[in-house]
Amino acid sequence: MCALQKTYPLNIKICLLLVLLLHFGCKTRTQPQADEYLPLRNQMVDQQIASRGITDRQVLTAMRKVERHLFVPPELARYAYGDHPLSIGYGQTISQPYIVAFMTQVLNLEKTTKVLEIGTGSGYQAAILGEICDSVFSIEIVPELGVRAARLLKMLGYSNVLVKTGDGYLGWPEHATYDAIIVTCAPTHVPEPLMNQLAEGGRMIIPVGQRGVQDLVLLSKKKGKLVKHSVLPVRFVPMVDDKNKTY
Ligand code: SAH
Repeated sequence: MCALQKTYPLNIKICLLLVLLLHFGCKTRTQPQADEYLPLRNQMVDQQIASRGITDRQVLTAMRKVERHLFVPPELARYAYGDHPLSIGYGQTISQPYIVAFMTQVLNLEKTTKVLEIGTGSGYQAAILGEICDSVFSIEIVPELGVRAARLLKMLGYSNVLVKTGDGYLGWPEHATYDAIIVTCAPTHVPEPLMNQLAEGGRMIIPVGQRGVQDLVLLSKKKGKLVKHSVLPVRFVPMVDDKNKTY
């Protein structure tokens, strides 16, 4: 500072000071923030997921990594690691962490598994799938949610996750067949197009039933036939068509 005072006139000094302030101001803003939610996220995995019997290492690793608080509205970020679903707007919810982990584990995913998700919502489940698998396709019927999720997933670097706005009842025939299908909204019956788009040896996890409580059903395709197991009672938002009518 002494050197500045001697060498430069006042207006130049002010300019230099402003440049310095701007430089350091920008630097602090663009520097990666320490993940303040990491302890809460690890606690979520330990207390809500691992302790309830989820053992798939890939699922546990993905759930420790994906920053769930980024997928909920900012004012709800501090509740993102709680043991419950949360509102994401448009009358929709991000599923409870345990349900995300459970549904992901039963699909027996590998890196090469091609996955279709119906009900992108916040994009959180898609990010978990994207951590584990090379190619993930996800369909959301509410355009605003689909666009928001696609933007966030892109920003976070999930170039292996493709999101489109559309009616998931119809599946995504252009990329079929899928080794795994995960449905995160509840129809009253398993959609025929999804059954057809499931590959031989593939698995589909889907909540089926009326508004309120549904049956979480695991379907496996063996020799062209679907073998069905009920695994858990659950409560999901209904699967609707483009006129908001429940399937
Ligand atoms: N997997 C989401 C949770 C989704 S909640 C997440 O991780 O956040 C269920 C979502 O299914 C809602 O966003 C809802 O708009 C969507 N949905 C309902 N019916 C649908 C349909 N026919 N096709 C695609 N998405 C549908």
